[in-house]
Amino acid sequence: MKRIRHALAACDVDIAGIEGILITHEHSDHVSGLPMLAARTGTPVYASEGTARALAGKIPALAGRLRAFAAGTSFEPAESCIVETFPTPHDTPDSVGYILRLDGLRAAVVTDLGHVPDWLPDRLSGVDTILLESNHDAELLRAGGYPAFLKKRILGQRGHLSNAAAGQTAVLCARSGTRHIILGHLSRENNRPELAYQVTYDALASAGFRVGADVTLEVAAPWAATSRVTMRNEELDMMRVGAQVENSSFLTPHS
Ligand SMILES: [Zn+2]
Ligand SMILES: [Zn+2]
Repeated sequence: MKRIRHALAACDVDIAGIEGILITHEHSDHVSGLPMLAARTGTPVYASEGTARALAGKIPALAGRLRAFAAGTSFEPAESCIVETFPTPHDTPDSVGYILRLDGLRAAVVTDLGHVPDWLPDRLSGVDTILLESNHDAELLRAGGYPAFLKKRILGQRGHLSNAAAGQTAVLCARSGTRHIILGHLSRENNRPELAYQVTYDALASAGFRVGADVTLEVAAPWAATSRVTMRNEELDMMRVGAQVENSSFLTPHS
């Protein structure tokens, strides 16, 4: 929660102005700051049905605040803001990604997925800004100190996206019109920001995109707040406050 407070302050956002909290799934790296954040804001907490069930069990104080949706459906949490949802292949029953639609612009949060399903690039087609998981370098992970079961989990089809997979996905997105790519959910142990950046940079450059001109590329480091992303309507901003807090859209409640 301290980290969220600092990140919000760095982005000049008043916590009282938050209108909703989107949760991708119930893993603790995504919800440890949720009880305090929910208490401070009083806003609804949106989650898929399976995630909402898990959250209700974990955090009784959310009773009455949870707004559950079926993964794959859309809803309108604030005037003129549509939130599209899609299921993500992750090792939890009902995790989702989000696409926020506001004033004709779309911004997507795509993290915590072991692979990119065939249908996903179509769903992301034309998204203006994407926060894309670039979790690990596969070689660093394999050579690193994680126990074998954890390495297998992360590398599996329901684990996390590697830098190489992020690079391929970034190219597909750029081909369909994406202009801003932020790499996030980086592992502290099995990745480095400069490595993640280089892999996706090379993939985009090989596909003929000029990074910085055709498409912007940034990395949300796990330990720092990044700048604020503003969609055209000034009243409803998409926040990004670092890779620790990147997994929902109005704000992600990490501690
Ligand atoms: Zn997870
Ligand atoms: Zn995660």
